[in-house]
Amino acid sequence: MVITIDGPAGSGKSTTARLLADRLGYLYLDTGAMYRAVALAVLRAGVRPTEEEVAPLLQRLRLVVRHEADGMHVLLDGEDVTPAIRTSEVGALASEISRLAPVRQKLVAVQREAARRALQAGGGVVLEGRDTGTVVFPGADLKVFMVAEPQERARRRREELRRRGEERTLDEVLAEIEQRDRQDRERALAPLRKAPDAFELDTTGLTIEQQVDLILAEVRERQRRAAV
Ligand code: C5P
Repeated sequence: MVITIDGPAGSGKSTTARLLADRLGYLYLDTGAMYRAVALAVLRAGVRPTEEEVAPLLQRLRLVVRHEADGMHVLLDGEDVTPAIRTSEVGALASEISRLAPVRQKLVAVQREAARRALQAGGGVVLEGRDTGTVVFPGADLKVFMVAEPQERARRRREELRRRGEERTLDEVLAEIEQRDRQDRERALAPLRKAPDAFELDTTGLTIEQQVDLILAEVRERQRRAAV
């Protein structure tokens, strides 16, 4: 089974998708981490986020996703950059470079290939991002679109940054995620939007466990319908 979870920043996608994949024994693919990894490479190389400057860098770049006991890791040219991609600076740049066609082409291919291998091995996959239900797997078995009120999303994102040692005010974080969402929704390629057949889940006021249980109920319902 292929499950896609899309939605704006701070909607609760990552934790929910990871727990859901754990509960189902499925592969978890955090597609945002891949865009962040490319952004980190751009930052380190000191190139501008334009197609002309990023395309040659992409060709040289070796991006590998590895699954370990503590979750998904991203490796850039052999270096594990999993913690380094979590800063707000990298998040903002990820939103810029994710508009570029060569970046999307490369990463969508990596995502489809990883999912294909999991399915071939008899498992399932949970993909999480902005376009996983609209572009990467438009024929997914279950598509979820997660939303939450901006204040709540900002609060969650601020907590996440704080745990990683980055102290920000709520207003700063709110302005940043609103800017990033606007950019993600308004871009020409693979904009953030709900697939027409997606199940919308408003996570405002819900615990992670409640979010996972609601999606699991949808999964079970679809499995039941497929079996009859
Ligand atoms: O989900 P996360 O905040 O880590 O994503 C970082 C950025 O990567 C997003 O703001 C978005 O611009 C980009 N992204 C994307 N398509 C995806 C996942 C992430 O364009 N499937």
